[in-house]
Amino acid sequence: MAGLDPDDWSELRALGHRMIDDIFARAEHMGEGPVWRPMPQNERAKFAGDLPGEGQGASELYERFRQSILPYSNGNPHPGFMGWVQGAGTPIGILAELLAASLNDNCGGRDHAAIEVERQVIRWTAEMVGFPADASGCLVTGSSLANFISVITASRARVPGLRQEGVGQRKMVGYAAVTAHGCLPRAFDLAGFGSDALRLVEVDENYRIKLDHLRALVAQDKQNDFVPFIVIGTAGTVDCGAVDELDKLADFAQQEKLWFHVDGAFGALACLSPTRRPLLNGIERADSLAVDFHKWGQVPYDAGCVVVRDAQLHAQAFAQSLHYLTREDRGLAGNAPWFCDFGPDLSRGFRALKVWMTLSHYGSERMGEMVENCCSMAQYLAERVGQDDELMLLAPVALNIVCFGHSALDDFQTGELVKDLQESGIAAPSTTRINGRLAIRAAIVNHRTTRETIDRMLDAISALAEKRRVD
Ligand SMILES: *Cc1c(COP(=O)(O)O)cnc(C)c1O
Repeated sequence: MAGLDPDDWSELRALGHRMIDDIFARAEHMGEGPVWRPMPQNERAKFAGDLPGEGQGASELYERFRQSILPYSNGNPHPGFMGWVQGAGTPIGILAELLAASLNDNCGGRDHAAIEVERQVIRWTAEMVGFPADASGCLVTGSSLANFISVITASRARVPGLRQEGVGQRKMVGYAAVTAHGCLPRAFDLAGFGSDALRLVEVDENYRIKLDHLRALVAQDKQNDFVPFIVIGTAGTVDCGAVDELDKLADFAQQEKLWFHVDGAFGALACLSPTRRPLLNGIERADSLAVDFHKWGQVPYDAGCVVVRDAQLHAQAFAQSLHYLTREDRGLAGNAPWFCDFGPDLSRGFRALKVWMTLSHYGSERMGEMVENCCSMAQYLAERVGQDDELMLLAPVALNIVCFGHSALDDFQTGELVKDLQESGIAAPSTTRINGRLAIRAAIVNHRTTRETIDRMLDAISALAEKRRVD
């Protein structure tokens, strides 16, 4: 009983087949049940037990999964899920995860096929946005880490001594719109520059970075002996989906000799849609890019990606030389550079397989149509909001995010209505603040969302608002 394999393989295999059958039965009928339901206290309590001394059978564990985990899941595969920015996953992605787990590859480096798959995924990502084919990159947990890696790379490119010497008295500063995602100030914080070192630039009426204000901030910092090193544009802001004028930001960065980074967490996928691509013009001029395949790419969590134009600068920010990780000319320790040279992770899973299988299975054209369709659903929602006397659009709809309000409800009631809606199981939008006002925020990132889903949500909102008014 030294190893961990089963005595009876046939029993486990039969259970595995049943799991696959159940998975696809659910996938085929996705959208029939509630989007989400709160987990009852008695179910939560089942996860309070101590570390078991003795093991349990796999069938028993599957039963516990079915009873206590499955019904209280996050809900993002459901067409009615429109909260935050979350992808829905795909059937091929489910299978890819299974296959990747069966190989158990460690993709920190070495000479095996998974590395070639990830290299191809990085090249495809570069191709998607118009980066050179020799750009470097790696798959990471998500854009939070991809943005962090980019900030680190940019700062090391500006001040090569940072890695060994630390920040010391240097006052490193960068720039992004006030609407930039919270992971960017966090990246500055983690890098040791302090979150205040990310200067927040005002935005115009379309929620895009104001270039005049950016120019003024950089000039001021230079005068005061700060070290400006990066300007960050966002392709698809998290609150309303705005896209900064990336071409103009690229020009500015070039003039000022600043690193130009684009946070394209979800928006970069719009490069696959010929009608949306022009909105992102200039993304191909960035020095680095953060993008998530687990959002608009519909790859199962997690699958973030960073791509850096200059592979050498990327490796200079992370590569180390260690005896126990020596690269060889042949054998399993060959095939440099390794992915551990491009980020802080050494052990890394085979995330690339699910991305590679998803892109290979659907192809860039069908993925582009899916992106396009999500944008059309957002337009449809915006139109219906426009036609409704009580609803009002709170921000322009550039891509796939619609922020709207109800004229009869204040901020508190709006927040309550969204919670009511989530608990109803009909739809799950989230909230944000637009010009200080609480907005119902529907991000159509889900490839399963249809006009019917949106109609159902609006009907529910109208009924719930009526009820709130009477209450
Ligand atoms: C989601 C998001 C992030 C963070 O990405 P994670 O994958 O959640 O780490 C960063 N920027 C934008 C614009 C996002 O939408």
